[in-house]
Amino acid sequence: MSMDVTFLGTGAAYPSPTRGASATVVRFEGDCWLFDCGEGTQTQFMKSHLKAGRITKIFITHLHGDHFFGLPGLLCTISLQSSPDTQKLPVEIYGPLGLRGFLLRTMELSHSQLSFPYAVHELVPTPDQCPGEEWKELSFLGGDRALSKDVQGKTIYLDPTEDSYTLVDTGQFVVKAFRLFHRIPSFGFVMEEKMRTGRLNAQKLKELGVQPGPLYGKLKEGITVVLEDGTTIFPSDVLEEPLPGRKVCILGDCSGIVGEGAVSLCHEADLLVHEATLDDSQADKAKERGHSTPKMAATFAQQCKVKRLVLSHFSQRYKPAGQAGEGDLDVTELKKQAEVVLDRQEVVLAEDFMTIGIPMKKPR
Ligand SMILES: [Zn+2]
Ligand SMILES: [Zn+2]
Repeated sequence: MSMDVTFLGTGAAYPSPTRGASATVVRFEGDCWLFDCGEGTQTQFMKSHLKAGRITKIFITHLHGDHFFGLPGLLCTISLQSSPDTQKLPVEIYGPLGLRGFLLRTMELSHSQLSFPYAVHELVPTPDQCPGEEWKELSFLGGDRALSKDVQGKTIYLDPTEDSYTLVDTGQFVVKAFRLFHRIPSFGFVMEEKMRTGRLNAQKLKELGVQPGPLYGKLKEGITVVLEDGTTIFPSDVLEEPLPGRKVCILGDCSGIVGEGAVSLCHEADLLVHEATLDDSQADKAKERGHSTPKMAATFAQQCKVKRLVLSHFSQRYKPAGQAGEGDLDVTELKKQAEVVLDRQEVVLAEDFMTIGIPMKKPR
């Protein structure tokens, strides 16, 4: 099953002609899961090879405008471009407490009617995710639920034993969130594929006298079968080693992690997307604004032993390679700064419309 990650917006603070505001798509079997939705995300979709109508889940890392101001517009655009479908499952949206009220009010004030249902599931942050003076007690926003009977959604609290939030379990993928420190509470998301059953060994099946047909399917599903001659065939007789699942981690804005959960959740990820708003020479300024530099991102990637680190969310002064003008900063410098920290892991600078494939893994 193919799986890839496409960057639709790699710039910080606001969208520009060279870098859209934050938006990343993970695609598998035609389904699109969107991570963050900055202003203009719907037009970035149109310029890409992806179809916004294929979005089934949306994850918002935090409530700074460059990460979610595009959400009402994107939902309305999808609605206008699709025919009403009463059978359509709700688009599931996950984000920090306050997001449901924002969407309800926006839809209500603009008299927007979507042609499909949606649900907003809110993550409850903890006060240590931002400076004390920025912390807002938002629990009263739970009352917004009463605004609309049509919009459903859960309230999701931190699981203290694993130091994470469990958001999704589709049977194929599990998505969990972990806490980040930023000017306002921010989250990272881990999308992990479950272990896949190994391939059937055709040679062994032949040797054991199993005829191609329904028995193959049963064995693949882990069911023991008995042949007509009374021979019992166990799945372990004919199945090769199971295939480990793939793991993609996408972090919101941060100058660090909160708690112990992040490192174990991101352990050996195939791809880790981390912000690097400013370069290492501006580390103090970055931290003061709740942001990271390449060194900070690479140090976390090293702790987690990830295979590939993607840097993104660059200050708009870092133009994509080859497009830098006078006064612009050289983004390739950020790659070098991350590489100094890492040994074997690959570092990639995200650019708008870049797609990275996540190949299936081999049996261990
Ligand atoms: Zn941002
Ligand atoms: Zn932010």
